[in-house]
Amino acid sequence: MDFFNLPPLAHYFTPEHEQFRDTLRQFIARDITPHVNAWDEAETFPLSLYKQVADLGVTGLGYPEAYGGTPADVFYNIILAEEYARCGSGGMQAALNSHTIALPPLLMAGSEALKQRVIPPVLRGDKIPALAVTEPTGGSDVAALKTTAVRDGDHYIVNGEKTFITSGMRAHFITTAVRTDPQSKGSKGISVLVIDGDTPGLTRTALKKMGWWCSDTAHLRFDNCRVPVANLVGEEHHGFKTIMSNFNAERLFMAAVAYGHAQVCLQEALDWARQRSTFGLPLSERQVVRHKLMDMQLRIDAARSHVHELAYRIQHQLGDPSALVARIAMAKVLATQALQFCADQALQILGGMGYMRGTRSERIYREVKVMMIGGGSEEILKDLAARQQGV
Ligand SMILES: Cc1cc2nc3c(=O)[nH]c(=O)nc-3n(C[C@H](O)[C@H](O)[C@H](O)COP(=O)(O)OP(=O)(O)OC[C@H]3O[C@@H](n4cnc5c(N)ncnc54)[C@H](O)[C@@H]3O)c2cc1C
Repeated sequence: MDFFNLPPLAHYFTPEHEQFRDTLRQFIARDITPHVNAWDEAETFPLSLYKQVADLGVTGLGYPEAYGGTPADVFYNIILAEEYARCGSGGMQAALNSHTIALPPLLMAGSEALKQRVIPPVLRGDKIPALAVTEPTGGSDVAALKTTAVRDGDHYIVNGEKTFITSGMRAHFITTAVRTDPQSKGSKGISVLVIDGDTPGLTRTALKKMGWWCSDTAHLRFDNCRVPVANLVGEEHHGFKTIMSNFNAERLFMAAVAYGHAQVCLQEALDWARQRSTFGLPLSERQVVRHKLMDMQLRIDAARSHVHELAYRIQHQLGDPSALVARIAMAKVLATQALQFCADQALQILGGMGYMRGTRSERIYREVKVMMIGGGSEEILKDLAARQQGV
């Protein structure tokens, strides 16, 4: 058990959940955490890890058995986020979990044939998927997307650009939001296509970024890409809802990753404060430092408690759906603000060492902003929450 952590409440987590947590924790501590610095510096990691994670049953969690998955409740996903966070690398978490944003639209609305072709190889760890929504002209305003897919017989001809796409360089399947009705404006006329990674006319460029180095992030360009109509996900022109439908799950997951990383910062700062002495006393005995540690803890506890309660409400369908959407959005804001605060405080306590590559807090500090922007930025989420509650 972590020094500052209370044991998980049995009210939320069953012995089966905890057994899964233990297995995952051991795997991450043994096979991921010792390598994250080297993998970040190399801007990649061994792709065999996809297979290892799949073999552990992690990739298929929450997916139907018919596609090789294991049905699971929302608390398994919370455990997944909390345990991945322990490795202290958001890049690992983002890369290994790109299927959690790329597959749900397909699972929700795809044809049986398309699901059978795409989902099982991904859940087996043989193929990698990506979700491509954001465009160079903007990501927050999804309804303004410009990439076109014009019908030509049994194919769509796709033209346009997507950017900041996680796993975009490696992906075998790219779940892509396109405009199938060129005359349409806004959310109408948008569709979802699965575009195979080897489609002629697709060019991918790797992007350099502030953090998440081991996770590839790509700019994609589609030049007259011919995509079979059979790759359409759901009804033509009605893809907007399909795209938006997974955001709640993504945001709750990101919130749990955020307080998980904040906890890593707290632990590192605590360990350092106990062993670093200045002027004859350990830092941990200075009131100003102890207050910093407690200020970190209270923000983590608030975010964690809120996320666990929301998970319970989702699981048991307790509460008005609009209010839940709002609270999930705000939970991500709360947790990422906690992360920002904790990363900042941890670096301050670590002093010069916190500025050096190799400390977990240094990496997490560089990863704060992507957590506050991706999956819905703070500004967009606050607006959404207000709207959902009739403000
Ligand atoms: C590392 C990384 C990985 C990513 N992975 C993916 C991925 O896999 N797939 C994918 O599709 N996208 C991905 N994204 C994109 C991400 O979802 C977008 O960056 C995000 O949605 C914001 O879009 P934008 O960057 O275009 O900012 P914009 O939408 O241009 O917004 C810029 C700023 O203006 C603010 N703003 C916008 N509108 C308003 C408003 N009405 N009122 C007030 N403020 C406003 C925003 O909050 C933001 O602060 C990734 C991004 C990063 C950095």
